[in-house]
Amino acid sequence: MKLFTNNYRALRSSTLLATATTLLFVASCANEPTAVPSSRPSQIPASTTQLAPESPVTENPIPNSTTTIVTDLPMKAKPIPPKPLPSPPKTEPEVAIRIETLPLNQVVIINHAAGRLQISSEHSSADDQEWTASTPIEIRIQGEGWRVTSAKKTGTPSQTHEYSAGELNIQSLNGDKRPIQWNKKEWPGKLRVVRTLSNIDLVMDVKMDSYLPGVIAKELYPSWCEDAYRAQAIAARSYAVVEESRWEGRRHYDMVAGQQSQAWIGATKNTKALDAVRDTRGQVLVHDGVVVPAYYSSACGGRPANALGVLTDNPFHNIVCVSTGNNSKKRTSCCETTSVATWKAFIALTKIQSRLQAWGSANSRADFAALQLPTAIEVADKNSAGRPTQFRIQTRKGGSIMIDSEDFRRAINAAGDPKSSMRSSDCSIRIAGANAEFSGRGFGHGVGLCQHGAQEMGRKGESFKQILARYYPQTMIVQAWK
Ligand SMILES: [Zn+2]
Repeated sequence: MKLFTNNYRALRSSTLLATATTLLFVASCANEPTAVPSSRPSQIPASTTQLAPESPVTENPIPNSTTTIVTDLPMKAKPIPPKPLPSPPKTEPEVAIRIETLPLNQVVIINHAAGRLQISSEHSSADDQEWTASTPIEIRIQGEGWRVTSAKKTGTPSQTHEYSAGELNIQSLNGDKRPIQWNKKEWPGKLRVVRTLSNIDLVMDVKMDSYLPGVIAKELYPSWCEDAYRAQAIAARSYAVVEESRWEGRRHYDMVAGQQSQAWIGATKNTKALDAVRDTRGQVLVHDGVVVPAYYSSACGGRPANALGVLTDNPFHNIVCVSTGNNSKKRTSCCETTSVATWKAFIALTKIQSRLQAWGSANSRADFAALQLPTAIEVADKNSAGRPTQFRIQTRKGGSIMIDSEDFRRAINAAGDPKSSMRSSDCSIRIAGANAEFSGRGFGHGVGLCQHGAQEMGRKGESFKQILARYYPQTMIVQAWK
């Protein structure tokens, strides 16, 4: 059976609920905080932000799994035709995770514990018949297609098959559930090797609840409590359901294994992660009949963010943070006692200038591309929780120009230098000589679940249901599949 057409995934049959209401669930603020996925503490896991580039095969530079923590928000989602959020799937979905994107001249080496793998191409011709090859196999581009070489076994020479075009499908032999091996890691599911205009993409098609343990294991610290793991499992599953629906038929993968989607380390033996996914199997967060894009980040700093304008321009994907009312100076109690509660950074003004110029060039902002040396950087606007949403950059001759707070953070962090990065946009900035001194709170974009806050709640004995109710108010946990 052919599963794929050209380089795009075949349309699957999940039904979209055409509910056009903007989600207005609140991240708890007033009495409780809110936040969501994003960056993580430097000692650990990767992080979480969720947005991938929008264009199909002609890709934007989407970082791969080696992305560092400071680049957790490389790009904000560009406007694409809004797609309503999906209703809860009745059966366990399969998600497509791009685990790596490689240069076209790269030789891809795949292994398997069984010593054999089954290989086929989406195009069937005499040359493209299904083939059981001895591992490790080597895959390289040849013309419009592929050349695959099997391992040499004792007494048997290596074999080569050529495939004229299309995607290569690689899977374990029937009944063998052991994962595929690539780059010294194990990856559950079936592998697709996809050629794009400029890269070779490795994409795993994997059942949702086989995918999630490798997400949770990377997102949270091993010592954290079980209810934080369970809350994270449901949030990550909900996010993945939305992404699967969002990219269906539009791109040859749903998510990347990295901070632009969710961290993913492939197969894991982490029992806390495995248990959390098993205990919550099939459960997703639902609001008004549709699954919620349950963003999360490392630490909200007590001032959560809205999803709109920070992570997405798609109103369907909004998550609104609860207003703290008139008292926006008061932070909510959440993650203030954790190791990432506060941060400081000193960044040379010349670096800030060059990074903003680069951002301006890449984002068609001529005013930033020609930016002079900043003389002041101020918070120009805040959300209802008091979190900065815009900064004003002043220069001696150029007057002042405005930039969205997360765009500012993306611009500063794009250099990938953890020593001169912004952990969050919840900060104030003071010019001191040739440097800017940043004083901030939290870590990450601050939308949705606050991972450190969730751990704090779990540590105090609150359940995963209480954690989710706090960070995704007005949602309910629904058993989508069993
Ligand atoms: Zn928090």
